[in-house]
Amino acid sequence: MENRQLCPVCGSHPVASAIKEEPREGLRYLHCSLCETEWHMVRATCTNCYGDDEVYLWAEQEKEAPVRIESCGHCHGYTKMLFTNLDPKLDPAVDDLLTMHYDQHLAEKGFKPTTVNPYLLAHEE
Ligand SMILES: [Zn+2]
Ligand SMILES: [Zn+2]
Repeated sequence: MENRQLCPVCGSHPVASAIKEEPREGLRYLHCSLCETEWHMVRATCTNCYGDDEVYLWAEQEKEAPVRIESCGHCHGYTKMLFTNLDPKLDPAVDDLLTMHYDQHLAEKGFKPTTVNPYLLAHEE
């Protein structure tokens, strides 16, 4: 059974995770795809199955890349991590789309997104 993180306000899926400096450095928030609410979720824990022993954070190139992926070896889910403490201009829905090559790469490895992009949903119907 899946136990996904859903928005506490409207019940929608998050679009991505954002790492922020405030109120404490490096806190992770999930960003709602619909109403833009952000809620706190501990880092290094899968947002889909709550597993914490096979969570892996990786970047395509640089170590300090502002967009990285947190993947889970248990449920094969992944979430994008936007390090807004490194790049304050990051926008979860927009930068998710700009990094779709990450998704392709993960799909090839058998991983599935645990997040939903509102722009892609709008184009699907
Ligand atoms: Zn919401
Ligand atoms: Zn998981």
